[in-house]
Amino acid sequence: MATATTTESPGFDLSLTEEQALVQRTARDFAREKVLPKAAEIDEHKKVPRELIDEMGKLGFMGIDVPERYGGSGMDRLTYMLVVEEINRACASTGVALCTHVSLGIEPILLFGTDAQKEKWLPDLARGQKIACFALSEPASGSDAAAMRTSARRDGDAWVLNGTKNFITNGSIAEVAIVFAQTDPALKHKGIAAFVVEKNTRGLVVGKLENKLGIRGSDTAQLVFQDCRVPAANLIGAVGDGFKIALATLDGGRISIAAQAVGIARACLEDALAYAKEREAFGKKIADFQAIQWKLADMATEIDAARLLTWKAATLKDQGAPHTLEAAEAKLFASDIAVKAARDCVQIFGGYGYLADFPAERHYRDAKITEIYEGTSEIMKLVIAEQVLAE
Ligand SMILES: Cc1cc2nc3c(=O)[nH]c(=O)nc-3n(C[C@H](O)[C@H](O)[C@H](O)COP(=O)(O)OP(=O)(O)OC[C@H]3O[C@@H](n4cnc5c(N)ncnc54)[C@H](O)[C@@H]3O)c2cc1C
Repeated sequence: MATATTTESPGFDLSLTEEQALVQRTARDFAREKVLPKAAEIDEHKKVPRELIDEMGKLGFMGIDVPERYGGSGMDRLTYMLVVEEINRACASTGVALCTHVSLGIEPILLFGTDAQKEKWLPDLARGQKIACFALSEPASGSDAAAMRTSARRDGDAWVLNGTKNFITNGSIAEVAIVFAQTDPALKHKGIAAFVVEKNTRGLVVGKLENKLGIRGSDTAQLVFQDCRVPAANLIGAVGDGFKIALATLDGGRISIAAQAVGIARACLEDALAYAKEREAFGKKIADFQAIQWKLADMATEIDAARLLTWKAATLKDQGAPHTLEAAEAKLFASDIAVKAARDCVQIFGGYGYLADFPAERHYRDAKITEIYEGTSEIMKLVIAEQVLAE
């Protein structure tokens, strides 16, 4: 039953259900009490504590859209987006660990796995007892993912994988990896296959851990496959379905990156607002200057617009409707306004905005990644244009 509750925008009511509102409140309280106090330390020490992931597992967030029969919370995508916004408002590194696990790690099994595969992997993943990652990008192929060089060769009851995957979020901490590999280069994208590879598989080695501009607490690793034998039963879908699986997964993933961007932008607005009400210049609070007010007004407006696009895309996904266009629009717009909000947040903090002692500097570094991963803004425009032109 729909009951009135508010989003962060006073006076604008999208009538979340009682359950959605309860989950939103739970996520907000958890983010404020448990995640936010650790955010600066997570950034500095470049690690999200496993306890935080365990707690997200206990709250049901790590398997939020996994059906209850597989150990998940059985909730819809919109509810998941509410959680993603709250966690990322507190800490984008913790937020992306969650988004990658749910949207990219679990989703291919949920959408394309057999019953046996779901029963084997989903319960531990849904409870957060195991962490998942998604290995598509390579040193020489990111946007052009179909140009991947990682190979898969059938050998008896196994596939033998060779190659290197780059930039893999949760790469060194994940126990389960969704890995894409080429079975026949002549077939180009139609030769790609998707596999579930368990961390302890011989021939899978965690390579370089990346040192990054932002989301520094998020684990970003190379995964190296050297004659790595993966049981044939771990193939998801059919040989040749891999590219389709990757694109369908990314359609959903982009909605959660849009929600991540909304969360980061909200952190910028809330921190800038609090600072502007305190800081004085020329005998006034800086919030009294119109130049500051206009920045705050733009942030508030753009956050609401980005959230609406995100919720629209999530709702379409919940309805089983096509959402490639809407997911790309939400990610393009939300990442753009998050970067802008972070720039304005630093500006409102003045010199203090440039110091690591204040959160504005971290938001500025964290926001940028939302324009890059799960498809750059240029690729989002290609996707949107393709959809619009096809109409
Ligand atoms: C912190 C981090 C985490 C990541 N996590 C993951 C992960 O978990 N799993 C995973 O598989 N990957 C992950 N990635 C990889 C990420 O998705 C890619 O970096 C991204 O898709 C861009 O690919 P690229 O870096 O190879 O850039 P390139 O594809 O080389 O692009 C370089 C530039 O050229 C532009 N460009 C490329 N093609 C076109 C075109 N056709 N038209 C116009 N412009 C174009 C791009 O927009 C970009 O500006 C992560 C990356 C980072 C930095």
